[in-house]
Amino acid sequence: MKITISSRNIVILGAGISGLTTAYLLSKKGFDVTVLEKKNEIGGSIETVCEKGFLFDRGPNSGLETTPVISQLVNELNLQNELVYANKASNKRYILRNNELHPLPMNPSLFLKTQLFSAKAKFRLFAEPFIGRSKDGYNQSIAEFVTRRLGKEFLDYAINPFVAGVYAGNPEDLSVKSAFPKLYDLEEKYGGLIVGAIRSMKERKRRPEKAKQSAKMFSFKNGMSVLPKALTNNLGEKVLLFSEAVAVEKSSPGYKVTFNQAGKTRTLSTDVIISTVPAYAASQLFNSMDERLSSHLNNIYYPPVLVLYLGYNKSDIGRVLDGFGFLIPSKERKSYLGAIWSSVIFPDRAPEDKAAFTLFIGGARDPEVGNIDKEILIKKVREEFEKIMMINSEPVYISYKYWNKAIPQYNIGYIEHEKYFDKFEKINPGIILGGNYRGGISIGDCIKNAELITNKVMFDLHDESLI
Ligand SMILES: Cc1cc2nc3c(=O)[nH]c(=O)nc-3n(C[C@H](O)[C@H](O)[C@H](O)COP(=O)(O)OP(=O)(O)OC[C@H]3O[C@@H](n4cnc5c(N)ncnc54)[C@H](O)[C@@H]3O)c2cc1C
Repeated sequence: MKITISSRNIVILGAGISGLTTAYLLSKKGFDVTVLEKKNEIGGSIETVCEKGFLFDRGPNSGLETTPVISQLVNELNLQNELVYANKASNKRYILRNNELHPLPMNPSLFLKTQLFSAKAKFRLFAEPFIGRSKDGYNQSIAEFVTRRLGKEFLDYAINPFVAGVYAGNPEDLSVKSAFPKLYDLEEKYGGLIVGAIRSMKERKRRPEKAKQSAKMFSFKNGMSVLPKALTNNLGEKVLLFSEAVAVEKSSPGYKVTFNQAGKTRTLSTDVIISTVPAYAASQLFNSMDERLSSHLNNIYYPPVLVLYLGYNKSDIGRVLDGFGFLIPSKERKSYLGAIWSSVIFPDRAPEDKAAFTLFIGGARDPEVGNIDKEILIKKVREEFEKIMMINSEPVYISYKYWNKAIPQYNIGYIEHEKYFDKFEKINPGIILGGNYRGGISIGDCIKNAELITNKVMFDLHDESLI
């Protein structure tokens, strides 16, 4: 439904990568944006800390260049000299099995040789093209989907660790349709994954978007927070810190946002509100407008994650550092999900003679992480990690960040939430629900969605003659 706006004012809630990118793109189109951010810092999940020569990204450590908007931002914000791509060595990724690190096979010949999968599991893959579509793909978990198409061992030693690495999630809970829509589409559209992968690769060559597996991995010399900082510098006074939105209500015309700014209650009237705050925060904001929406938002699960950063002298590490790091299948029963070899991937993450690692603990696999004494937990994780890495010294640097509600889980039943979000936006033209609980959690997806929202504001909500 089109609405004809009386002003070009837009209020954006949240100054994470979703809110800031949306604000930047809309501002470039001549809209008058105001971004309200609850904290006294921008970036949301993106946080970079520099200490004692180490650079620690406490949230995302990299992004994938899946959309041309990323290089557009880099160029327009003059970040060309800051941008870094992942070292070639980091193409190699390991999976732990029986306390040994096995490289994930990246081509058919390595797949046939790998010891990561048994002969039976390899043979099982040949059956995939002959397996038909599922009757109930819509309500299927990624675990059911993968077991049916590729077999149980592939689920346990490829998908289970992969899902932990991306979502800090459980394959038994995540909806294949909502969390892995491209995988689901391969079955729906082409009838199978192998045939679908080949055909869709050909089709994608004609489009500017890149698939996640072929997109380049990037970060910045000074860490991931470079991007939100540059966006904020560009937006200047349009970003209001210490400004917590507390309610969104209908007013005539448009909407009213109430927010607390440094202890004072203020309001803003506008025709367009774009929310990019986490679902649980949006649930409170929209409660008085629509209780059902509020309940959908509140039912989205965000498990806790503890991110542990460890620095060691290179000379104390027995393992060759020749990859991205490793992921741990839940069957291996370790106290953490995996480790990224941070200083192998990007430059300047550690002093020359040191190596830096980022470990992920908890997630939906182990949500009790929040209730365990952190010191005891970290000691246990360190013991397990140091054994695998053949390290027999104390770390020279140690730091951690605990995310109480880390990443939204697109679990089974998510489609019902998504349908209701669409319905709510239709009933309330001018309100857009964005952020990482819609359309993907990755940095690339958040940026892609910021562009979609910008287009929606320009072409669906506004009378084009006003643009
Ligand atoms: C530990 C961790 C590791 C990750 N690793 C990767 C990775 O390697 N690669 C990758 O692509 N992605 C990764 N992700 C995911 C990715 O970082 C996030 O999905 C993305 O940054 C989310 O951005 P966002 O702007 O949608 O939300 P957020 O970053 O959550 O931003 C929301 C903002 O809203 C603000 N806010 C909340 N309530 C209010 C309110 N009432 N009023 C005003 N403001 C409010 C918050 O303070 C916050 O600044 C990771 C995430 C985590 C937590």
